[in-house]
Amino acid sequence: MTETNNCALNKTDALPLFSDIQVEHIVPLVTETIKKNRDLVEKLLSENSTFNWDNFVNILDESDDHLGKLWSPVSHMNAVVSNDELREAHDTCLPLFAEYGTFIGQHQGLYQAYLSIKEGDEFNTLKAEQQKVITDALRDFKLAGIALSDDKKQRYGEIKQQLASLQSQFSNNVMDATLAWSKLVTDVNELAGLPESAIAAAKQAATEKEKQGYLLTLEFPSYLPVMTYAKNRALREEVYAAFSTRASDQGPNAGEFDNSEVIDQLLALRHEISQLLDFNNYAEYSLATKMAESPDQVINFLTDLSEQSHQQAMGERDEVLAFANSMDNLEQLQAWDLSYYSELLKQQRYTISDEELRPYFPENKVVDGLFSVVDRLFGLVIQEQFDFNTWHKDVRFFHIYDKNECHLGSFYLDLYAREFKRGGAWMNDCRVRRRQVDGSLQLPVAYLTCNFNKPVGNSSALFTHNEVVTLFHEFGHGIHHMLTKIESSSVSGINGVPWDAVELPSQFLENWCWEPEALALISGHVETGDTLPAELLEKMLAAKNYNSALMMVRQLEFSLFDFVLHHQYEAGKAGQVESVLTAIREKVAVIKPPNFNRFQHSFSHIFAGGYAAGYYSYKWAEVLSADAFSRFEEDGIFNAETGKAFLEAILEKGGSDTPMTLFKSFMGREPNTDALLRHCGIK
Ligand SMILES: [Zn+2]
Repeated sequence: MTETNNCALNKTDALPLFSDIQVEHIVPLVTETIKKNRDLVEKLLSENSTFNWDNFVNILDESDDHLGKLWSPVSHMNAVVSNDELREAHDTCLPLFAEYGTFIGQHQGLYQAYLSIKEGDEFNTLKAEQQKVITDALRDFKLAGIALSDDKKQRYGEIKQQLASLQSQFSNNVMDATLAWSKLVTDVNELAGLPESAIAAAKQAATEKEKQGYLLTLEFPSYLPVMTYAKNRALREEVYAAFSTRASDQGPNAGEFDNSEVIDQLLALRHEISQLLDFNNYAEYSLATKMAESPDQVINFLTDLSEQSHQQAMGERDEVLAFANSMDNLEQLQAWDLSYYSELLKQQRYTISDEELRPYFPENKVVDGLFSVVDRLFGLVIQEQFDFNTWHKDVRFFHIYDKNECHLGSFYLDLYAREFKRGGAWMNDCRVRRRQVDGSLQLPVAYLTCNFNKPVGNSSALFTHNEVVTLFHEFGHGIHHMLTKIESSSVSGINGVPWDAVELPSQFLENWCWEPEALALISGHVETGDTLPAELLEKMLAAKNYNSALMMVRQLEFSLFDFVLHHQYEAGKAGQVESVLTAIREKVAVIKPPNFNRFQHSFSHIFAGGYAAGYYSYKWAEVLSADAFSRFEEDGIFNAETGKAFLEAILEKGGSDTPMTLFKSFMGREPNTDALLRHCGIK
């Protein structure tokens, strides 16, 4: 597609040459670029006496963008095609970034320059998004300790560096522990109950290791089918025990990759840093940049949802137990039984299984269908590109255009699970949309990463409906990043969006996976091409809220554990992780995990990622997304005008305004929990 005149200013910067990256260049180049950026800060501060957007903010922003673009392929490849050398180079750079962040965040001259812009005459003439950049920067200066005395500033810097290393160590321990365990099964009868696709994948995994038989691993596509389908209770227990004790003092590799000490250090340092900045605890510090206003508001919100769901969750559990009892005389439901009997009961009730649905969701049908859905909603044309540099042969690459053939952005799609690729699914930015110093526009580029089953043999990859939902979820993040109209990078796309609102577009887009009209676009039987039969669809919809209260309380357990742990933390008190977890489970959980369970030791969201005292954000944003979708339920799910309103009020605005303001401009009122509870079938 050619570019028309109205996008003449558009310019896609050269994309990273992933396959050419030489590991030995990474550390010197990052070091040198950080030095250049530091020099530029000093140069601008000494050369100018007055500061404004053009002579200061945008120039510095561009140097940071340059550093970000240099780093993006390194950190991305470390997550998806990791090896020892790359990991070492990556980890060597982390303290350099932390140190640079501290240099910027605690630079008195920089702070004064931003303050002078905020207080100067130019400020009111700036675009709203530019004003938000300045205001956010001043807030972040304060959070980065600008007001601290020199000795406290130094301590602040030390803590930041230690936190970055500890988080990386946490993540490495989880990956190493995941790789360290596998089980070779030689008798296929031991795998009774598992779907053929899982057995074939286990066989392929064994072959790749030059072994005979079936290799089970702790990677999710291997772990999940065992827990869901394996008839063999002892096998389920063994795999569960290995998975739920990863990186801990328990289980088959007890003590080997143990995160216990890492967790204690992380909590102590987080508490110390929040007190340095005059917060009572890390939960308060976390909320300083979020949509939620106080710890009490968050705890009440989670407790409320828990109370509304608890009774229904107990009822759902008792039904599964009664079923397990009638099937196999089970007296008690263990953690490794729940998924298995839940799935059996679900099949019995709705005679439906993920495996029955899989043939209806072949990769190309799903991906093309997803593109049709966003086209009908937002008017987009998405075209696959075939000439591009990549980190792995399975990766695909696409451009997104609007109806006027204007190139809006691009994305990489890396769908399959493989060794040395971090588990889970996520969207990350490769390039952010910004107006550059030379006046040209840099277009946004995203990495969309999943861990689905890869095709077995020559057939197409077949997805479960769950995986389809995951793909829509990540694509929702993707369009938030790629459809933005904002030109200031720190509030462009998902940048500058508070954590507890950032899941709005992703969870919002999931809704289309449950709508008959949309399923007609995203399903097509791999052999016959038939769309999902009405009969199956009806059962799926009936099954949709199966055990939804159980799932709700599980998420609330994680959210409350994370938030309360960071809120109640007391320096020097031992055993807090266990005591908080026990107390929350007493109140919220309806299935008590075994004593050896150490799920917290691989809870990377809060100990290796950015969700510390912020895991509640998923539920918080679900309220926003369910509520926003309710307008489509009223107007029609493919109502193009409602789609346009959502595009303009939410997606295009990125982080340029507060989420509450953007939400209200779309809905005309504040959010409430009615739609979420209704969607979950919780009465
Ligand atoms: Zn998400």
